[in-house]
Amino acid sequence: MALPTPDLLARIGNTPLVPLRNIGRGLPVPVLVKCEHLNPGGSIKDRIAVAIVDDAEQTGVLAPGSTLVEATAGNTGVGLALVAAVRGYRLVCVMPEKMSVDKRVALAALGARVIVTPNAPPSDPANFRNVAARLAVEHGWFLTDQFRNPANVHAHRTTTGPEILAQTGGRVGAFVAGAGTGGTLTGVGYCLAEAGIQARLVLADPVGSGLADWVETGALGPDGSYAVEGIGGSEVPANLHRALITEAERVTDAESFAMVRRLVREEGLLVGGSSGTNVVAALRVAARGGLDGPVVTVLPDSWDRYRAKPWMAGWEPAA
Ligand code: PMP
Repeated sequence: MALPTPDLLARIGNTPLVPLRNIGRGLPVPVLVKCEHLNPGGSIKDRIAVAIVDDAEQTGVLAPGSTLVEATAGNTGVGLALVAAVRGYRLVCVMPEKMSVDKRVALAALGARVIVTPNAPPSDPANFRNVAARLAVEHGWFLTDQFRNPANVHAHRTTTGPEILAQTGGRVGAFVAGAGTGGTLTGVGYCLAEAGIQARLVLADPVGSGLADWVETGALGPDGSYAVEGIGGSEVPANLHRALITEAERVTDAESFAMVRRLVREEGLLVGGSSGTNVVAALRVAARGGLDGPVVTVLPDSWDRYRAKPWMAGWEPAA
């Protein structure tokens, strides 16, 4: 019998797109931010979690009670945990130790088994993605594989992108986003191109990531360290398609975290570190001018995932 109301998963997506009224004041075009932190699982990754599971169900690779395994910085794990709970699957998350304890605790509380790996480079068998792939083969688990799975790009091409078009009346001067898997930037990029919109597509990249150099020259830049989570890297994900991207903006940790604080205090947007990176880049793109429409970016996740992180220490005013 059909259920009388849609389940929780129907609340994923259709997030608000709001202007930065204070931080964006005085710029030649508005800066609009898509509030992905308001998804049920607190991040943009809810969209791809449901899309990947829907796709696997349709192609018959999942049976009731199957186990999903994902290499995740945390947010995809939370999204998959929601979907697994609603649809009756088990979930194993493999995450590098650099990721916040808050994310680890949230995943365990949601019933996922969490395996923490060293912060190892992609060539190392102990790297989180290699460990997830090995476990999938060994146990016959379904590797959700957000870095390669085309359902990730498809989710943004068919939901995030069309929502932005509807919310802007089809006027977008530039779309700006960091890339973890690349799903957001690639999916929205295809959607805008298919709609015939000549928007700039800008990668917001942490200083220390090699992806900005890759956008500009085709060769990855040197591998450095940085504290913003979920974006950048020392390897090009299969879901990041260079031909769509027009330029890159490099943003330091200090700039990103200072901007998070401003977003919280000046705009009431309770968001995480990569939102700061995206907004710093979006403001620069807007300030340069020459755009025929607003700059749009995403706020990928929520601040409460980072309470134990050093960058959030000392936010309380001194007594
Ligand atoms: N910000 C955060 C906090 C994330 O977890 C992710 C996903 N890794 C992103 C941004 C980037 O999104 P995408 O994977 O679509 O590139």
